[in-house]
Amino acid sequence: MKVLVTGGAGYIGSVTTRVLLARGHEVEILDDFSTGHREALPPGVPLHEGSLLDAGFVDRVLAAPVDAVLHFAAFSLVGESAVRPLKYYRNNVGGSVNLLDAAARAGVRRFVFSSTAAVYGEPDEMPITEHAPTRPVNPYGHTKLAIEWALADTAAAAGFPAVALRYFNACGATPELGEDHEPETHLIPRLLRSLLDPAAGFAVFGDDYPTPDGTCIRDYVHVADLAEAHALALEADARPGLSVYNLGSETGASVREILAAAAAATGLPVEPRIEPRRPGDPARLVAGNARARRDLGWRPCRSDLPTILRDAWDWHRRHPRGYRG
Ligand code: UDP
Repeated sequence: MKVLVTGGAGYIGSVTTRVLLARGHEVEILDDFSTGHREALPPGVPLHEGSLLDAGFVDRVLAAPVDAVLHFAAFSLVGESAVRPLKYYRNNVGGSVNLLDAAARAGVRRFVFSSTAAVYGEPDEMPITEHAPTRPVNPYGHTKLAIEWALADTAAAAGFPAVALRYFNACGATPELGEDHEPETHLIPRLLRSLLDPAAGFAVFGDDYPTPDGTCIRDYVHVADLAEAHALALEADARPGLSVYNLGSETGASVREILAAAAAATGLPVEPRIEPRRPGDPARLVAGNARARRDLGWRPCRSDLPTILRDAWDWHRRHPRGYRG
């Protein structure tokens, strides 16, 4: 298939692009490099550099027809979204509206959207299935849920199948591509950076949660497994309307378990400070992934902690300053 990947210079988009190319798809990338990295682009892939907020630009990109759109491009800092909500509504929702509008008019046959576990907020039941109520607790989650609605309505009106993939905690790396956000807020890259540069320091945000070791439990899923899910969603039998899938490993790991896995993978001592809880962190978020397994044939086979920490460490060690070196 001919596929337009928005956000193809970002963390999950760049890994997915490699998987699509390896499976014989033809890929074009749209990115504005507000958070993505030129170094993460594969050689020879056509690049449309510009913003989804520029509706004319998006129309011109889609004037050459594609079969499918994979839409990764978004701002994703939860804390920043609470301080600057309209930055998120404008970019995430506004950009997606332009993209959906152009995609519908261009007659795309499939649309795959990067959604998030943040659409669930603080669910009552674990593991979280796709039937759980969507009650985001921050503007980032609101924008992603709003895009799911816009996508469902557009897919129904225009008659193309659409898929929303709700990621849990993306992590890990491939030999070439890794996680490099600025600022970095995520647990594993912050921890590994602190092992490379002890001056960076590292803190556990709260050890008094109602969990067995007192630290928060999350569902960590390897970026290569996420990328594969996108390829499967692209290639699966088309169903009309919007299909929603959780992408997680169904296994919860606490912050302390991540620290132990990092110590094992690196051979270095991990000695964190303990700081107060970070506002808005639920104690436990674990995905039920039966639907993705059943419908997509997805198997998150790299999402065990030793593999995740080994792959992330390999990448960070070789790129101590991220894509800058
Ligand atoms: N966390 C931490 N120290 C850090 C970064 C994160 O203790 O420097 C904790 C955070 O409070 C949460 C877990 O690690 O319990 C995962 O956080 P992350 O930001 O990676 O993902 P989230 O689940 O918030 O999307």
